[in-house]
Amino acid sequence: MIERDKIVIAGRVNTGKSSLMNLLTRQETSITDPRAGTTADTSRTFIEFHGLGPVALFDTAGIDEEGGLGAKKKKKVLDLIKESDLILLLINPRQEDFSAEKALIQYIRAQEKQLLIIYNIFHSSDKERIADIEKNIPDLKFHKKIKMSAVNESDRRPLEEFILKNYSSSLRPRPLLPFLKPDLFYPFIIPMDGESPEGRLIRPQSVLLEYILRNGGFVAAYRPGFIADLKEKKLVPESELDRADKFFKSFSEIGCVICDSQVVDYADKVIPSDVLLTTFSIVMINYQSHGKLAAFRDGIRRLKSLKRGDRVLIAEACNHTRMQEDIGTVQIPKVIEERFPEVVVEHSFGREFSETSEIGAYDLVIHCGGCMIDSGKLAARIRDLDALGVPYTNYGLFLSWKGGEKLLERVLKPWGLDLI
Ligand code: SF4
Repeated sequence: MIERDKIVIAGRVNTGKSSLMNLLTRQETSITDPRAGTTADTSRTFIEFHGLGPVALFDTAGIDEEGGLGAKKKKKVLDLIKESDLILLLINPRQEDFSAEKALIQYIRAQEKQLLIIYNIFHSSDKERIADIEKNIPDLKFHKKIKMSAVNESDRRPLEEFILKNYSSSLRPRPLLPFLKPDLFYPFIIPMDGESPEGRLIRPQSVLLEYILRNGGFVAAYRPGFIADLKEKKLVPESELDRADKFFKSFSEIGCVICDSQVVDYADKVIPSDVLLTTFSIVMINYQSHGKLAAFRDGIRRLKSLKRGDRVLIAEACNHTRMQEDIGTVQIPKVIEERFPEVVVEHSFGREFSETSEIGAYDLVIHCGGCMIDSGKLAARIRDLDALGVPYTNYGLFLSWKGGEKLLERVLKPWGLDLI
C-alpha cells in the first residue's frame, strides 16, 4: 500500500471547494455549480503532487449545511479532518458571517493538524475585506494564507508552491542522524547517578541506539565514572581523564560522539577536538521538529539581548519524575538567574503547551528534546511560535551555549550548521 499525504479541502458551501479540487487535479474531478450544496458527500481522488509525492485529496461538503443531513455531513468532514495531514480552508471574503470558519479553525487547531488558508477571491474588492476577517477570527494569525481564484488556471502553480513551502509532510523520511555513515563508531556518553532509572536506557538513548544499529553504525557507551552526583561533574580527576582517553582511543574511526546535554562541557574536554560531538537533546529536537534545528539555533541569539523583565518559558513535553539537579527546574533556571538576574523564568510541563493566547508574551522559549510527544504535536507548537515571532531554542543548545560559543559551534558542526 502506498502511503499518501491526506489533504482535505474544507469550507462553507459555495466557497469554491470543488473548483479548487479541479484546479489541483487538473480535471473535472468534482461537479461545480453556483447552487449551494452541490458536493453531496466527501469525494476523494489520488494525485501525484509535484514536489510532495502521492497525495489523497478530499473535496468535502459545506460545514454550514443545515438540517439533519447537513449535521451528518459536517460530522463526516470533522472525522475526516482528524485522520488527515493538511487542511486547506477556503474562505469567501464576501460572506458576512464567519462563525463557522471560526469554530472549524478552533477544531483543526485542537486536533493539531496543519492548516493553510485560501481566500477565494471572486471580485477584486474582496481583498479589502480580509483585514476585518482576520480581526474577527484571531486564530487566523497562526496560519499562512494565500489570495487566489480557484477558477483561475494561472493560480494553480502559485497555490502548489504555497502548499509545498508551508506544509511539512510527516511521511517523508526523517533520518534521526542524517550524517550517520555505516561502519563508523558512534560512542554515547551517558552519566548515571543514583536517580537514573535502573534496568533501561531513557528514550532518546534507546531510540538512537536502535537507529545506529539498524543503519550499520557501531555503538559503544561510556559512563563517566566520577559522576556519583551530577553536581560534582566539574571535578574531573586525573584517573577519569585517563579512563576517558582509553575509551575514545579504542575506536579506529569515530563518526560522532553523542552525549547527555548535562555533561556536554565535560565531553568537550575529554574527547579529541577533531572528533564530532553533539547531544541527545539536539538529535531529538531536530528529529521531532522535522529538521528545524537551524530555527532552534537562531533562537539562541535572543539570549544576547535578554533584559530585565523579559520572560523565558522553559517547556518540557512530559511530566517525568524530577531529579535533584533536574535540567528544566534547576539547572537552566540557575544559569538564567546568574547571567540575566532580572529575567522572569516560567515553566510549562506536560503534553499540553501553554495557552496559545499566552505564548506570545514570552521573549524566548527553551524546549526539551520533546521525545515523549509525537512530532505532529511538536510541529504544532513550533508553528504557533513561528506565527507569533517568539524565538525558541532547546536544552541541548542552551547547555552548550553555557559552555561558550566554541562549544555551541562544536555541537552544531555535525549538522552542517554554524553560528551565523
Ligand atoms: S519529553 Fe522532554 S522532558 Fe520528557 S523525557 Fe523527553 S526530552 Fe525529557
